[in-house]
Amino acid sequence: MRLGALEAGGTKMVCAVGDETGKIFEQICIPTRTPEETVPEMLAYFKKAEIEALGIGCFGPIDPDKSSATYGYITSTPKLAWRNYNIVGAFEEALGCPVGFDTDVNGSALGEVTFGQAKGKNSVIYITIGTGVGAGIFVEGNLVHGMLHPEAGHVLIQKREDDTYQGKCPYHKCCLEGLAAGPAIEERWGKKAIELKDREEVWDLESYYIAQALVGYILTVSPEMIILGGGVMHQEQLFPKIRSYVKELLNGYIRTEELEHIESYIVPASLQDNQGIMGCLELGRRALENQ
Ligand code: ADP
Ligand code: ZN
Repeated sequence: MRLGALEAGGTKMVCAVGDETGKIFEQICIPTRTPEETVPEMLAYFKKAEIEALGIGCFGPIDPDKSSATYGYITSTPKLAWRNYNIVGAFEEALGCPVGFDTDVNGSALGEVTFGQAKGKNSVIYITIGTGVGAGIFVEGNLVHGMLHPEAGHVLIQKREDDTYQGKCPYHKCCLEGLAAGPAIEERWGKKAIELKDREEVWDLESYYIAQALVGYILTVSPEMIILGGGVMHQEQLFPKIRSYVKELLNGYIRTEELEHIESYIVPASLQDNQGIMGCLELGRRALENQ
């Protein structure tokens, strides 16, 4: 089966061709400009690849509701050129094959559940902490959409007393994204996150905020595994600190096997940063199956 995968991001578009086992045959990366400039380039790539179906994991907000008039659109994104753009329509029309569509982070969650360490689990949350913060939620075997789709990167966070930073989110200031995404780290500490590697206090505060959000997700969704990916999570020293704050904040309220073995409960992504694109392959496979 030849499947196409498109991980559509605000800065880059990753296009790949692979199969239903998650094997990637080839891959290209195109900078995200306007739809008029970027989409024809991607279409040319996928036409040549002779794919049977395409899966798109997309930056958002998007409309993933098949019964909606604006299904397949990127909706209220701050990236103006892409606002109200019918991305699924453009690919369906030009390629004439089934197109699967979901958020980028639901795509990554699906990648981990289908091909990665979360295989066989029923309920899993995948969180990316990079330029923004997003969460894909897989519950009882399905990717969660609900009334729109989860936007769990914007959950409100209680600031720690010693943190005087005002928060970067234009909507909420002090949501998880506003306090803990890469650009917030950079603005608070005046240096790029990667250059702050040895500053203990940076990663202590960062893990405290991430842990607050995780506790909320644990109590609400009760996931069987929490996977953390994205550029910021390349700072591996975050993991033990996050686990320790999660335990502290839960304060023994719930007791499960998973929390007993928290080092295999809150884990890094397992697919060498390919979880997103591999999840898109599976979105494509599912679109073909359901056509
Ligand atoms: P995006 O979210 O744009 O898809 P990334 O997940 O790579 O891309 O996130 C980019 C953000 O992550 C930037 O703010 C950058 O400073 C931060 N970042 C990237 N690599 C690292 C690293 N090794 N350590 C800490 N922060 C990083
Ligand atoms: Zn926010």
